[in-house]
Amino acid sequence: MVCNSCHKELADGAAVCPSCGAAQNKGYSFMITLILCWFFGVFGVHRFYTKNTGSGVVQLLTCGGLGIWALIDFVMILIGSYRDGEGRPLVRG
Ligand SMILES: [Zn+2]
Repeated sequence: MVCNSCHKELADGAAVCPSCGAAQNKGYSFMITLILCWFFGVFGVHRFYTKNTGSGVVQLLTCGGLGIWALIDFVMILIGSYRDGEGRPLVRG
């Protein structure tokens, strides 16, 4: 991930940028993303929520890759491999 203020490279999950001191937003909720994917995955809603907007539009137009892509996303979220639009992992708890 990169700093939301100075755009320098940061360690994943860093709360504060060591270069400029800007507080980082932590990313999107694991539970919300998982629930959105389960119920609305074929509409790409979990991708819009996590700012993966481009692939969200494709998912919306293809009904979540006929459900298969949405299912793959659900598994990716579950095992912690899913990343948001800024390359950050989802935030648990
Ligand atoms: Zn910074």
